[in-house]
Amino acid sequence: MYPELQNKVAVITGGSKGIGNAICYRFGEEKMNVVVNYNSDASGAEEAVNLIKKAGGNAIAVKADVGSEDGNLHLLEQAINTFGGLDIWVNNAGMENQYNTHELPLAEWEKVININLTGVFLGSRTALNYFVKNGKKGNIINMSSVHEQIPWPTFAHYAASKGGVKLFTQTIAMEYAPHNIRVNSIGPGAINTPINAKKFADPKQLEMTTSMVPMQRIGDPAEVAAVAAWLASDQSSYVTGITLFVDGGMTLYPSFQGGRG
Ligand code: NAD
Repeated sequence: MYPELQNKVAVITGGSKGIGNAICYRFGEEKMNVVVNYNSDASGAEEAVNLIKKAGGNAIAVKADVGSEDGNLHLLEQAINTFGGLDIWVNNAGMENQYNTHELPLAEWEKVININLTGVFLGSRTALNYFVKNGKKGNIINMSSVHEQIPWPTFAHYAASKGGVKLFTQTIAMEYAPHNIRVNSIGPGAINTPINAKKFADPKQLEMTTSMVPMQRIGDPAEVAAVAAWLASDQSSYVTGITLFVDGGMTLYPSFQGGRG
């Protein structure tokens, strides 16, 4: 636990399930004020609000599409109106789907880029604007992926979006460091969330994924949330522009395990 996080105000996009939901809960345990964003799953967001309150924090659920300017502005407005400001913005919302690239419809490319990359830009811009105009020390955390580094055939649009998040994070981290604003990414590996539910329900697929992880297990969303809390806290006060991989070693070229190669 990080006492300095108490009463801080955070926006978490895509908080109704998965990793975003785990970050909501962890920020609740840190006794923070949380704007839980959702796009369609109102009951998941309400559940997150209840969990946060039970854990000792405060929260509201706010519907907004992260791919729209208005949606992001609405989230900031709600943070200011309800909790009096903003300290931390977590761009977590994301999606993926699978296509051979030669058959990938433009609309699907645009959807994934819009939510995963443009959404990160719009959320970051909204938060930066508030931090700069108010002379406030700010903190932005972007949910990237191991696929900002590892190519992923049949998920080219997803990999392109996360590769974009990597350089966007590094660039704005440098641009706003003189303003005392830190910007970092988290790069999860294989985490047990609804995005992977179908895949991990199949024992063969689960075994295949596990074999690509040196720690030989799938990650828990709470393990990603713990890293988000650290990045939000003052314990990471000299850290900016990084991607912190939370992947059980997936980015370490596991095919070389045991001296192969
Ligand atoms: P998930 O599908 O469980 O949750 C994604 C959340 O984003 C959902 O709450 C969804 O409603 C929300 N969302 C989608 N489109 C939105 C929009 N337009 N506006 C607002 N919210 C929207 O997925 P997850 O596994 O929890 O993924 C969270 C993030 O972590 C994503 O950015 C994903 O790419 C990244 N990630 C996940 C894994 C993993 O293994 N689970 C690995 C690497 C990266």
